[in-house]
Amino acid sequence: MRAPATIIAALFVTLQPVRADQVDVVVQAGHQGRPQSCAALHVKACNLGTSFGTQLERNWTAIVADATADALRHAGLSVKRRPADYAGRDRARAAVFLHFDGSAPACRSGASVGFPAATDAAFARAWETVYRPLFPFRFAGENITRNEAQYYGFHKVDAPGKTLLIEFGEMTCAPQERWMAPRLHELGADLARFIGTELRP
Ligand SMILES: [Zn+2]
Repeated sequence: MRAPATIIAALFVTLQPVRADQVDVVVQAGHQGRPQSCAALHVKACNLGTSFGTQLERNWTAIVADATADALRHAGLSVKRRPADYAGRDRARAAVFLHFDGSAPACRSGASVGFPAATDAAFARAWETVYRPLFPFRFAGENITRNEAQYYGFHKVDAPGKTLLIEFGEMTCAPQERWMAPRLHELGADLARFIGTELRP
């Protein structure tokens, strides 16, 4: 009877670190930490994100991601808050990657979503159902660019069925920018409420 016990013990040791690493939610702020993080982590396509005047997308995503993480933690969920570049992979029940879009010419875009697999579509559409009535501008679609459909961050997380990139709106479009700028904390709270509902057993 010694051999099976040894095998079980070995499996336990192997699996335990992975389980300990799992969190409820990964929240990534798009472009945050760049450009500094690119060289350190050997990122070749160092996309710094969009901007409007003096406002930078990577500052906005950090504000929304912090607000989302705070609200989720307040609701009792465990959160891993990630910047654009980091070593390692995460396991989570849900993962969201936050962005604001840019367009030239301006105002050709709006809110949109990206997700890696057909199995993530229901989660994305549930978010659309929440966000469309709040956002008084155009919804530009699902996986509308290569960067959205094949987002590098999707490969850094294992959150099957609940992996989602969110573009809250087009930052380079003045009317959308004016609507979003004073609402960054509110967007985080809205997103946290949505995730909390989706993860409720
Ligand atoms: Zn972005």
